[in-house]
Amino acid sequence: MIDTRTRRSFFTWARNLAGMGGAAALAFPAAAGSAAKETVETGEDYYEKLGVAKIINAAGTYTTLTASTMPPSVRAAVARAAKHPVRLLELQKAAGEYLAKRLQCEAAMVTAGAASALTLGTAGCLTVANNIPTREIPTAMGGLKNEVVVQKAHRYEYDHALLNCGIRFVEVETMEEYQSAFTPRTAMAHFFNAAEEGRIGREDWIRVAHQHGVPCFNDAAADVPPISNLWNYTKMGFDLVTFSGGKGIRGPQNAGLLLGRKDLIAAAAENNSPFSNTVGRGMKVAKEQIVGMVAAVDWFLSQSDEGMEAEFRGRADRITARLKNIPSLEAKIFVPPVANHIPHLLLHYDQSRVRIAPHEVAQQLRHGSPSIELNPATGTKEASAGLPAAGNTIVVGVWMLEPGEDRIVADRLHEVLSKASKPSA
Ligand SMILES: *Cc1c(COP(=O)(O)O)cnc(C)c1O
Repeated sequence: MIDTRTRRSFFTWARNLAGMGGAAALAFPAAAGSAAKETVETGEDYYEKLGVAKIINAAGTYTTLTASTMPPSVRAAVARAAKHPVRLLELQKAAGEYLAKRLQCEAAMVTAGAASALTLGTAGCLTVANNIPTREIPTAMGGLKNEVVVQKAHRYEYDHALLNCGIRFVEVETMEEYQSAFTPRTAMAHFFNAAEEGRIGREDWIRVAHQHGVPCFNDAAADVPPISNLWNYTKMGFDLVTFSGGKGIRGPQNAGLLLGRKDLIAAAAENNSPFSNTVGRGMKVAKEQIVGMVAAVDWFLSQSDEGMEAEFRGRADRITARLKNIPSLEAKIFVPPVANHIPHLLLHYDQSRVRIAPHEVAQQLRHGSPSIELNPATGTKEASAGLPAAGNTIVVGVWMLEPGEDRIVADRLHEVLSKASKPSA
């Protein structure tokens, strides 16, 4: 395996030395010539400088793996935006109006991720329901409308984003419980779009909440593609919908979308940076990320579901073809139903013939060069993110691979699996 890190640092070193023309240039870096200028413009490789490993992401849009990379058009827009100061409120407003038009909803705002959109959207609902100054959230909620109705099966690892606003969850399971859960203190109804359980569907959820004049929030953070989901849920009647900006849409990792009703988005914005005494002041989105989010939406809308699906299946097929002589290996494509709704490659084999457990394969790929991360469902007993429990299976998330990386993943899998294969007698 070629160590690209070492090779690249050698080239950078050699090029800088050539451009500097010897020791005199070292003492006077301002005169260092074209190579140094190029480094200023293309940027120094700070991952290399900091000794941080670059990985091949065969996992998916996982936050701890920095989720996604921005396509070239988005990176260019971010770099360009970085060159000029603007008026932040003017940029926020213009970006929101542009996004609302493109995503066919009443209003939109760029947030610091979907989790931040959950906090700001909830704060918006509380501000409107109670007609209070934003500084009162979350500490002065006593005696005010602060109840959020939710299905028990929709309680999840992002609850805290809502609780940050001083709300109290009211859990329901049946339709009957839901209908009688509304009180004079109800401020919002919350829905987790990719929940695998829960008896009340989206349309019923909206209808009942609206009968009580209560706004409905849908967390659809990881639920594109299909591209049309960006407008499906607001059109269905959800008053607020969020998508993560740094997952399938491939914007900056610290960006997200809050879409929905004009008055609620306006109230959410009042609770956001740059307004200082608010729950959202720490959720600042810089001009680069605002522009990056808008550019990523433009990029994503220029794609097609069929095109993305064909590309991801192509990657999975190339990996499968490379592994065709691994004994007993069976390859399958699995598409999770809602979140991460794209083809994943599942590889199953007989461990008496290929003597290595899937989690050990993941370890070896992680510690190899280049370092590869397989999907964390590999070799686990727990289903997650829409993927089935995969105790005896290798799961390759192909959608966040860069062009050409499927070949590197295929070669490494082939290397590790063939080494562990029992030679045929
Ligand atoms: C990823 C995710 C979030 C958080 O998104 P960020 O953009 O990382 O803040 C919230 N809710 C769900 C369901 C998610 O999958």
